[in-house]
Amino acid sequence: MKNLTKIFIYSGLSLLAYSIIKKITKVEKKTTTWDPKTDEKIKKLHPKVRQIFTDFVNTVQDKLNLKIRMISGLRTFAEQTKLYNQGRTTAGAIVTKAPAGSSYHNYGLAGDFYIMKGEKNNVMSVLTPEVAKIANDLGLEWGGNWKGFVDKPHIQYKADSVKNLLAKYNAGKRDLNGYVNI
Ligand SMILES: [Zn+2]
Repeated sequence: MKNLTKIFIYSGLSLLAYSIIKKITKVEKKTTTWDPKTDEKIKKLHPKVRQIFTDFVNTVQDKLNLKIRMISGLRTFAEQTKLYNQGRTTAGAIVTKAPAGSSYHNYGLAGDFYIMKGEKNNVMSVLTPEVAKIANDLGLEWGGNWKGFVDKPHIQYKADSVKNLLAKYNAGKRDLNGYVNI
């Protein structure tokens, strides 16, 4: 009887200790950012990168006291084709070198960001290497580091090469919402 009591007490205590440790170590990640406009764009990104991009925006705010906004995220194949045709087969100036399927935006794996300043958060400035460092720490790549075509607003999650992503897309390796399997 005495031993049984001991077992009850010990198991009770370890259960208590377990729940306390769990509470302390559980890092609650914010699922939204300071900016509803950015949140709307993030919702349309590939499901596997939504939290990473949310963490990116929040970490930049926490560590650098800067507010960044995503102004462009997912671009469907149809949207990309329309952009690509501009200045080639349709009116206007050429705005992109990327045909459909050749941009991480087409897979919901990239976002274009600006730092927002001013009282109304309406003064835009380009991303800095400090912001890019935070992106890099989260496994994201900054277009500002590219050679040749430097793309300072651009942040992407390089899950795979664009060639492989396109092959998957064409092979129908997509989820019910059309996102490629990564
Ligand atoms: Zn971009």
